[in-house]
Amino acid sequence: MKPYWLDEPREPLPSVTLDGHPDVVVVGAGVTGCSAALHLAEAGLRVRVFDAREVAGGASGRNGGFALRGMSAPFDVTAASVGEQSGRALMAWTERAIDRIEALAGNAFRRVGSLRVAVDAEERDELRAEFDALVAGGFDTEWVDSFEAPFDTRFAGAIRHVPDGVLQPARWVRRLAALAAGAGVEIREHTHVSSLDELGGATVVVCADGYPSGLLGPLEGLVIPTRGQVIATEPVPERLFETPHYGRHGFDYWHQAEDGRIVAGGFRDVSLDSEFTAEERLTEPVQAALHAFVNGLLGRELRVDYAWAGIFGMVLDFLPVVGRVPGYDNVWTAGGYSGHGNVLGFACGELVARAIVCEDDPLLPLFDPARLLNG
Ligand SMILES: Cc1cc2nc3c(=O)[nH]c(=O)nc-3n(C[C@H](O)[C@H](O)[C@H](O)COP(=O)(O)OP(=O)(O)OC[C@H]3O[C@@H](n4cnc5c(N)ncnc54)[C@H](O)[C@@H]3O)c2cc1C
Repeated sequence: MKPYWLDEPREPLPSVTLDGHPDVVVVGAGVTGCSAALHLAEAGLRVRVFDAREVAGGASGRNGGFALRGMSAPFDVTAASVGEQSGRALMAWTERAIDRIEALAGNAFRRVGSLRVAVDAEERDELRAEFDALVAGGFDTEWVDSFEAPFDTRFAGAIRHVPDGVLQPARWVRRLAALAAGAGVEIREHTHVSSLDELGGATVVVCADGYPSGLLGPLEGLVIPTRGQVIATEPVPERLFETPHYGRHGFDYWHQAEDGRIVAGGFRDVSLDSEFTAEERLTEPVQAALHAFVNGLLGRELRVDYAWAGIFGMVLDFLPVVGRVPGYDNVWTAGGYSGHGNVLGFACGELVARAIVCEDDPLLPLFDPARLLNG
């Protein structure tokens, strides 16, 4: 059940202990919480982070490792819902976030692009529409029409998102936590926060994405906990999937890790209803589908060395939830990335930190948490 990424040995964090009360408490030491903490400390605030588990012990150390630009919905779909200008601004904002991740992550990030593949003619048409919109917006994008055997009959076309990349996500978030500690942030692991009353009146930022924190008042449960399952096979000697691939509207995703293992996730649609849960466990139907999928990709039986589950937060409009919690003066949140939180988590951690220090941003109204209360 241990995620492959978290199995990598970790360096101890720089030890920081704040005297007295902090200015800001961050709940959650995933990518969002660590990013928020780093940016708040850089703005001169005293910050303490709590996590019930270890750094990156939630979805941030349990995900597929895809570092993708954009929102969870395809670019053209997002632009249709928020308007073309805002859609382009969101896309450019996430591209800048990938640049900053590259600058900070060292060998936890490889900029290899990503391939969103079509598995049939219908999905190919959808991808063509997204491709045309990306090109019209001036975003670096390539269309892929042909694949080498044995994949030539499997895929009907693909978009190459050139600026994307792949992460060893636990290594990246541990590094981000170390940067935050280096900037003076105190990080208390294995400490669950049960109530806001415990936090001495500090400003609080809840960065729990899909894990129910119990701290979000009227928003509790409105970011819907959703389970994802992933496997990592034995190392495969041939390099087949340097670039992360995702298809069937993101229901399948896979790539090859540095040591040759095929890391594959998804297949929630095998039992869609039962995967809307915060219960972090493996299920036989999804695991069987993942194993059969990687065997089919490689054309031979592969051993599964790691299998794990994680929880992410789904939002019905596929936009993040960032801002003040309605009804509270000093409680903020950032999360709700609908399975797309590696880049968005980093970017939204910074965004919420800037909002707390009163730096306005034109993107914030799009992510206003209050919209969840209106339907
Ligand atoms: C299986 C899976 C695959 C995914 N694949 C991808 C992918 O390839 N690319 C991508 O971009 N995104 C992916 N995602 C989504 C992405 O991982 C998440 O959106 C992102 O990691 C969220 O980061 P976070 O810091 O907001 O939350 P998390 O990393 O989930 O951290 C939340 C933390 O809050 C802590 N917490 C909660 N409540 C409390 C409390 N009361 N007291 C103390 N601590 C508390 C939890 O212990 C947890 O560690 C995937 C998610 C899953 C589950």
